[in-house]
Amino acid sequence: MTIEPTHLARRGLMFVLSSPSGAGKSTIARQLLADDPQLQLSISVTTRERRASELEGVHYFFIDRSKFEKMAERGDLLEWAEVHGNFYGTPREPVEEALRTGRDVLFDIDWQGTEQLYEKLPQDLVRVFVLPPSMAELKARLERRAEDSEAAIARRLEGARAELEQWAKYDYVIVNDDLERAFASVKAILAAERRRRDRVLGLRPFVSSLLQDVQALTGAPVHSDSEKSAS
Ligand code: 5GP
Repeated sequence: MTIEPTHLARRGLMFVLSSPSGAGKSTIARQLLADDPQLQLSISVTTRERRASELEGVHYFFIDRSKFEKMAERGDLLEWAEVHGNFYGTPREPVEEALRTGRDVLFDIDWQGTEQLYEKLPQDLVRVFVLPPSMAELKARLERRAEDSEAAIARRLEGARAELEQWAKYDYVIVNDDLERAFASVKAILAAERRRRDRVLGLRPFVSSLLQDVQALTGAPVHSDSEKSAS
């Protein structure tokens, strides 16, 4: 039977975007999701207050501290962390289900959560860090958003230092000085990572079928060296 190269089965990947608040990662995340139906957002649980612009179950699941602790204790969270005085965590089940069925999951999480995902599932993880063009621009973006109190903005700027210091733990680092360019870069990274040899599960039988065809076409015996060296 001929195997269709365009339908090779693939394991899903976990695509993490991290940055200090205000560097533009949420905008890039939104654009990626709108652009790409194969990608689904991991919706975190958080103990933070809901902002006026946010919707339950769309941006986050807003839960109280005791429910958060129960989820963490039961192992229902793939990772969790305290960020700017609030707790955030990734529900485990939707991510595992997506990976099993070959869908990709986008995460807007901090460096602490990214480290935990790396410890658990390193081969499924792609880590992208978004840098602001300058700290003055980052502050201006936080103020323009005008959804957080002055104290919260100050806490986020303070937290930006700790987040920035983690940049070298990521696979890719993008400077968001131009949103269109930054988005194009992130999109290209996702496209390339999807095609990594070890993610494309159907390659081995596909190459075997090509080799069988060589034999059928030429009558020459198949050398299996290329198969062995690819494992
Ligand atoms: P914000 O309060 O602005 O929505 O998010 C604050 C920070 O928490 C952001 O850096 C965001 O990426 C991070 N964050 C959001 N959800 C999660 C999560 O589930 N786990 C971790 N570790 N960080 C998260």
